[in-house]
Amino acid sequence: MAASGEVVKARRARKAPRMTFRQEIRVIENLPRTQRLIVILKIAGVFLVAIGLEGIVTADFLFAVAFIPLGILVSLLPIRIKTGRCVACMGILEEGQAICPACGAPQM
Ligand SMILES: [Zn+2]
Repeated sequence: MAASGEVVKARRARKAPRMTFRQEIRVIENLPRTQRLIVILKIAGVFLVAIGLEGIVTADFLFAVAFIPLGILVSLLPIRIKTGRCVACMGILEEGQAICPACGAPQM
């Protein structure tokens, strides 16, 4: 009986400096969405570059000029999202910040 009481006390004490429950929910909700977006953008970028290369092969240079830069841009976009925005609250982060100053969520 005394032992279980100790566990409850320890749990309560540990909870204080952590993120609030609502913030934690927000991190969980946003993380998969952000990761999914990054994966989609990377695939889309590769696909667009492939269309552009197809344009070179078929001597359709308008395709190459239009799709290769677009593909590279789309591929690089997730890196911007990752470094510029918080994964949890989408707040703007300073360069190289590992923890969001607004909500305290750790960045990947
Ligand atoms: Zn945040």
